[in-house]
Amino acid sequence: MVALLAVAACASPRTTHQAQAPTKTGASPLQPSSTSAPTAASATPPDESSARVLREALLSSSRAFEFVRSLTDDVGPRLSGSLGSKAAVAWAERTLAEEGLARVHAEPVKVPHWERGEEHGTIVAPVWQPLALTALGGSVGTKPDGLEAEVFEVDSLEAIEKADPKAVKGKIVFYDVQTERTRDGSGYGRAVRVRAQAAVGAAKLGARGVVIRSIGTDESRMPHTGAMRYEDKVQRIPAAALATTDADMLHRLMARGLPVRLRMTLGAKILPDADGANVVGDVEGSGAADEIVLLGAHLDSWDLGRGALDDGAGCAIVIEAARQIAKLPKRPRRTVRVVLFANEENGLAGAKGYAAAHGAELAHHALAFEADLGAGRVYETRFLGPPAAVPAFHATAASLVSLGVAVSDEDAHGGSDLGPLVAAGVPVMDLRQEATSYFDVHHTANDTLERVARKEIDQAATAFALAALAAADGTTDFGRIPEEKRSRR
Ligand SMILES: [Zn+2]
Repeated sequence: MVALLAVAACASPRTTHQAQAPTKTGASPLQPSSTSAPTAASATPPDESSARVLREALLSSSRAFEFVRSLTDDVGPRLSGSLGSKAAVAWAERTLAEEGLARVHAEPVKVPHWERGEEHGTIVAPVWQPLALTALGGSVGTKPDGLEAEVFEVDSLEAIEKADPKAVKGKIVFYDVQTERTRDGSGYGRAVRVRAQAAVGAAKLGARGVVIRSIGTDESRMPHTGAMRYEDKVQRIPAAALATTDADMLHRLMARGLPVRLRMTLGAKILPDADGANVVGDVEGSGAADEIVLLGAHLDSWDLGRGALDDGAGCAIVIEAARQIAKLPKRPRRTVRVVLFANEENGLAGAKGYAAAHGAELAHHALAFEADLGAGRVYETRFLGPPAAVPAFHATAASLVSLGVAVSDEDAHGGSDLGPLVAAGVPVMDLRQEATSYFDVHHTANDTLERVARKEIDQAATAFALAALAAADGTTDFGRIPEEKRSRR
């Protein structure tokens, strides 16, 4: 889910800053470096030997797979507010400290707390058909004896807006929208708005509930959950996702023109906000330690699977990258910071909390990366920053050529958790991962360790490590994102 929060944009790209009192997160302030903003031309290139050592270490002794195994077996599902999410924070603090990162600490944030409860669904007329369905994240529940109504089918958000309220009133609206399979996940990006807005669109016409075709590319009986949104002053109605094969069957039944009745029972509950935390750890820079290259991923996951791909793999990729950088004989000039964000799946409280807690430091965030698209290999990179920094981006991307990573001149997006940093002008670099089958298991009970291929995740960890090292070791200035490009597309 992508909700962007405007964070106070930083002033000029680089201001020398006064020594600060310890931040309320408890992290001791970083020692300021006395550098002026060098241009790309005068930048010192990253140390070749470090990059070589790093590449060999990662391709021969990566522990990325082991980190996913540990997070999914020793912690498991970790939805915000759940016991699993508390265990995940402890796991992350322990793991970052054991793997040689410094200043490891948890930064408290309040997170939404939603619980799924028991749930089931059935077509009750014209035939009796049990359904594979699951509540969307944030949905209200139904009464204990469920909600039964006739089904009204639409094939888009626009279609419900044009529908006759008389035909929709009192019904369960079925949104049958396909998710296109794409290498970069853009098909998901186009379809996911249905999940977010389905309930509001139907409730405005008096519907009593909604079911959507799962936002996924598989043909299976595994329903895909994911966050949805309500709107003030619009009735909150129960919302669920059907497995794609069940959506196909419902569509076929509807196509016969006979009235179809569906009953669903959702035990979902919206509880008071709970305590969560971002977990942060640094590989302290050897020269300009106050300058930060950020490696992000999100620690939370949905509750149906074990969050191996989403986002256990991302956590493992950035932990492994930092672990290997910390082991290098010579530490990079800038600080490499790992941030494992809380609550990416249903609220972005971690992303907002980090930007707020580190507001004064954002001017010194040189570049940010996020791994949040599974365990696939990195096949392409792109940048979002000022035109003057494009040569700096190319210099950084050059460290990835040996891994077969292409360079795109499209603007980068940065992951969801980097939204507040992008709004503050922090440049971002996307390392795009192979995601052609990612949305087969995304947000389902099938998101388990078996989906992670060692060779793939090791290549991805190597790419994140080499790019972070190149950015942290050089004196290149990546500047600030131009104002007009800071709002999320
Ligand atoms: Zn994710």
